[in-house]
Amino acid sequence: MALNPLNVVMLGPPGAGKGTQSERFAKTHGLPKIATGDILREAVHAGTELGCIAKKTMDAGQLVGDDVMIGIVGDRLHRPDTTTGFVLDGFPRTVAQATALDRMMARRGPLVVIDIVVPEDALLRRLAARRICGSCGVNAPIEWTSACGQCGGALVHRTDDRDGIVAGRLQVYHRQTRPIVEFYSARPTFRTIDGNQPPDVVTASMDAAIREASVVTGGVL
Ligand code: ADP
Repeated sequence: MALNPLNVVMLGPPGAGKGTQSERFAKTHGLPKIATGDILREAVHAGTELGCIAKKTMDAGQLVGDDVMIGIVGDRLHRPDTTTGFVLDGFPRTVAQATALDRMMARRGPLVVIDIVVPEDALLRRLAARRICGSCGVNAPIEWTSACGQCGGALVHRTDDRDGIVAGRLQVYHRQTRPIVEFYSARPTFRTIDGNQPPDVVTASMDAAIREASVVTGGVL
């Protein structure tokens, strides 16, 4: 029997650890990680037209328009490296995006949806501590104390992680993104995991959850 592709969607509030966990999972399983926040930050860094459109909205902690985001992800999912699957981080963020993703997935196998749950006080602590490289934009793992381990650039706070913006981003999450948990929760391939644990423990639970869900999909794990 032919195996289905492994199409993973990561859900969770800002600071839940989606980026770290999707990076690890994608690397271990040889899948492309598609992080819409990274795509937008790269566009801002490169000063492209998309970057100019997105910068103000991102800095204010609001969501970039659905049409723009659906276009970006639709194009990315046409690339051949996604035929065996992918890990999506940061998309969908609205019910309109989730509906569009279902349309894109026609004949591509089911989605495995992982919702990482973390209490709000822990999220606020994590976002206050989060740093990225001011030169190349990569997320700084905890081991990097002052300089980027990739390019030597200085580590800085993300503009949208500053006080005053974070509370608004969590509100945007509750109002616009949380409803997609209801959208997916009745599917047999939906799993919730506890993200308020050490990163390696979250990695192991996520692996186990996806392995179990992919039995339902006839997937590759
Ligand atoms: P976090 O890691 O905190 O969840 P991201 O790095 O994924 O944040 O995204 C940063 C910002 O990029 C968001 O606050 C939003 O402005 C924009 N963005 C990313 N993905 C989307 C999306 N699917 N729809 C709308 N805006 C998005």
